[in-house]
Amino acid sequence: MTGYTVDRNVPWPVPIWDADTVRLIAQDLGSGAYAVVADTADEQTTRGIPQATSGGFIVGDEAVFVVESMMTPGLARQVLDLVAGVTDKPIRFVGVTSDHGDHFFGNYLMPAEARIIQHENAFRAIEETGIEPRKQAQIGWFDLGRGIEDVRYRPADLLVPPDGKLTVNLGGGKFVEVLDLGQGQTSGDLWYHDPHAKVIYAGNAFIGEKPAIPWLLDGVAERPARTLRRIHDWVPDGTRIVPGHGRVTDKDGMRFFVDYTEQLVQRVGEAVADRLTLEETQRTVTMPEFDAGYPLFGWLHFDINIPCAYTEARQRNA
Ligand SMILES: [Zn+2]
Repeated sequence: MTGYTVDRNVPWPVPIWDADTVRLIAQDLGSGAYAVVADTADEQTTRGIPQATSGGFIVGDEAVFVVESMMTPGLARQVLDLVAGVTDKPIRFVGVTSDHGDHFFGNYLMPAEARIIQHENAFRAIEETGIEPRKQAQIGWFDLGRGIEDVRYRPADLLVPPDGKLTVNLGGGKFVEVLDLGQGQTSGDLWYHDPHAKVIYAGNAFIGEKPAIPWLLDGVAERPARTLRRIHDWVPDGTRIVPGHGRVTDKDGMRFFVDYTEQLVQRVGEAVADRLTLEETQRTVTMPEFDAGYPLFGWLHFDINIPCAYTEARQRNA
């Protein structure tokens, strides 16, 4: 079923990445924390090639905590197999980072006794639209025949409220902090932090290291810029960051993404203050120093991110 086209000017063939050919691997980060990434992530992330969703799992004395249930049944089953390859302890918690299908569609294949955790805003957003439009949107990016059609909705059980924090006890002194650190991409972003292993799982609020830039699809730029800067400055030294899509990195690997978002807001804000039109802003705010080999840069920067920051700055100045 190839040749499916989307009505979006994405300079990359659909599927953006092919769920049928993605092979997920577990990367041992020590002290019971694992990243789950595509086996291409180490080599391709810094070349800007879009990568499958990254997540992971954390093993305590009594239970396992999975981060991200993934987009398709095939990918969700790979996660379950990777956990089973490391431990026979039960998966009691599954945390998802947002309301994006590539992070939570696999919920329904997670063990029935596991409790699914999500931000309250993400849960409400899904309940409002229902699952079908979200499946169609994901099929638009990732194509038919990958199993998205078969996804059944399984809602979250535990909802973290805005500005909320939940600490989950996995036994043996292993705790997972579930954190709302502010709007990174969506208003329902959660970060999962294992302070003992010094690992944090980011989701799409931080897609990946250079040359990736944010996808500001939610129409806000200022809050994400502030949030990302705050998180970057807060992340303790020595902490490994598992991004939404790509290889495991750290605070330094996050800088490009944070700087871009901040600069975007500042420069578009200046353009609006100078009374430039949107078209003039798109011609002026080219930010070539951030066009570092991400094939989606042109589309995201000029067609998504500038209009987003521009509209927001205009409203603020109105
Ligand atoms: Zn994603």
